[in-house]
Amino acid sequence: MTELYADIIPGISHKELDKTFQYKVPDGLKDLAVPGAFVKVPFGKGNKTINGFLIQLSHEPKIEKEKIKEIIEICSDKDLPESRMIDLAHWMKDEYDTTMIRALKTVLPVQETVKSRSPKVQTTVGIFDDGKDICLNDEQKTFCDDVKADIDRGKTDTYLLHGVTGSGKTLCYMEIISHVVSKGMSAIMLIPEISLTWQTVGRFKERFGDRVSIINSRMSKGEKYDEFKKCAGGEVDVVIGPRSALFAPLKNIGIIVIDEEHEESYKSEQAPRYHAREVADYIAKKEGASLILGSATPSIKSYHKAKNGDYRLYRLTKRASQAELPAVFAEDMREELKAGNRQMFSRRLIEALRIRLEKKEQSMLFINKRGFAGFVSCRVCGHVMKCRNCDISMTYHRGSGLRCHYCGYSEPMVKKCPKCGSPHIAGFRAGTQQVEEKLKTLFPEAKVLRMDKDTTSAKDGHSAIISEFSKGNADILVGTQMIVKGHDFENVTLCCALAADMSLYAGDYRASERTFDLLTQAAGRAGRANKPGEVIIQTYDPDNYCIVHSAAHDYEGFYESEMGFRKLLLYPPIWNMMTIGISSPDEEALIKTRDDLINSEFLMNLRTKKEEIVIIGPAKESVYRIENEYRLVMYVKSKEKDILKEIRRKLSELCSEKVYMQFDIDYK
Ligand code: ADP
Ligand code: ZN
Ligand code: ZN
Repeated sequence: MTELYADIIPGISHKELDKTFQYKVPDGLKDLAVPGAFVKVPFGKGNKTINGFLIQLSHEPKIEKEKIKEIIEICSDKDLPESRMIDLAHWMKDEYDTTMIRALKTVLPVQETVKSRSPKVQTTVGIFDDGKDICLNDEQKTFCDDVKADIDRGKTDTYLLHGVTGSGKTLCYMEIISHVVSKGMSAIMLIPEISLTWQTVGRFKERFGDRVSIINSRMSKGEKYDEFKKCAGGEVDVVIGPRSALFAPLKNIGIIVIDEEHEESYKSEQAPRYHAREVADYIAKKEGASLILGSATPSIKSYHKAKNGDYRLYRLTKRASQAELPAVFAEDMREELKAGNRQMFSRRLIEALRIRLEKKEQSMLFINKRGFAGFVSCRVCGHVMKCRNCDISMTYHRGSGLRCHYCGYSEPMVKKCPKCGSPHIAGFRAGTQQVEEKLKTLFPEAKVLRMDKDTTSAKDGHSAIISEFSKGNADILVGTQMIVKGHDFENVTLCCALAADMSLYAGDYRASERTFDLLTQAAGRAGRANKPGEVIIQTYDPDNYCIVHSAAHDYEGFYESEMGFRKLLLYPPIWNMMTIGISSPDEEALIKTRDDLINSEFLMNLRTKKEEIVIIGPAKESVYRIENEYRLVMYVKSKEKDILKEIRRKLSELCSEKVYMQFDIDYK
């Protein structure tokens, strides 16, 4: 019998060990040896037993036979191991600069000895379609027919479905997925975790029965493994879940759908820092599948691709239920100040709330705090202090004045507004608790619920509040932007962004894009049923293009203005942008690395190639020290992504034991 050897990647996340080691497969285990299998092997001088992954098999020993150790145990499942998953891991390793083992752990399900608590999804409640027969409207039909015809011809493509909130995108996905399944192929549908509600799941269960598998991020590894096993065994046709559902080992994938494709949760914040859209694109091309991206507010990147003809663009312009889009009012808070109203509620808001209380309709008030970076603005004219190099709002730091956390540019805190001379210039602050208190004084009879980090920390705190509000047990829901996303309440007719400017000046280049998404989502919440809705956006800058276009429900207009800004400063999708986080517990070592970087010939040469590359920093992070780590940040923008990958390779050589670098490429 010929000997069988296996290349194993040890399960130790360390760059030096991130290569294959050859082991002998003992005769008794040969049946189980397949690429992708999870193994136990003796490792190192002490022959400590460690875990690893089997990558490749061969009959050729790479070193003297006698020196090759034997595999101790193989845990494999004939159905699961997939050479294509190994291929995907290779690609991710290169694209996102991670170790092979991390990439493998991301894409391969790991069997655990944990007994599975099989996830039961309640599907007994509710009437979905939210089985009555619904006829697709003309816009829906055009889209579905085109995609189906392409599939029938064996043509694959990427489609961007731009449909206003409630326009019936989900119905289109189901229609196309049914078609794919009827042809014997399978489908993956990604949705942001937050919209993984029983309503969505119910709609799919209703249509696809037991042939649908639901993945969520709260599942244990064992539970996830069981679901993936069903996929590989051909027991399911459709997988729904957040970004990790992309790694479901389905056979013969015909379509991948990414709903709410603009959502930030599709980007992994841990290594490998992949974006689901990029990985889905890779898988679709490899598998010969089509890709559908859907959103009411497509990401600027995807819309840019659609405009360039890389994606096919379809539109759903009307709400399917015939409900009108709500009226949106941008309230100028400077005018409120002039009129002597110094509180955080505009007169229009107070009146609108009063009417809702009278009519027993519900209201939602939110503060978009996320990414909030302490920008400084004038309450009289609305002027915001911005960096002269980056056109990004500067952050106020007590003691060191105003600072740009892209390039490090700083200037002393101003006492007067440089534009109008008013002394009412200061940092911007507001909290949900203050809002709740203010409501209690204004409307003592109103029942108010508050949803933020404090009130949702208890297990199920989040769903308890949502359930109270949806039952109508409160008049007003106050919260952070989390209340705006993914929830539908029939009786809500008023939605207000109390301080829209907060996320507008979050200090990074996507701030306007995120704010526009959020305000559009907010508008999608009000007046869904047969009662007309009203949206109030409170701002000090009503002429800002983001506010103007969201008030007009004008995505296209927003896109054009935003692209003007991106072009001027070469932000993605114009160029690629790499963020390099440099950190160390040893400040001296960090400063030395910074100086080495500044003086390195390699970087100095690059700095002269302004037509191809722009280097910003290194500068201190907006928060320089976190948990005794000192942090710097550097940005490199470039037309070509390969240049960035090369820089990444060179710079990682500068890492030392004391100084850690983390790279994140925002591909255009
Ligand atoms: P989206 O995913 O775009 O937000 P949904 O697919 O959830 O929209 O549809 C919103 C509502 O409109 C749902 O209640 C759905 O059943 C209904 N709907 C969708 N398409 C139609 C249609 N062609 N005719 C009638 N109702 C529809
Ligand atoms: Zn001013
Ligand atoms: Zn700057």
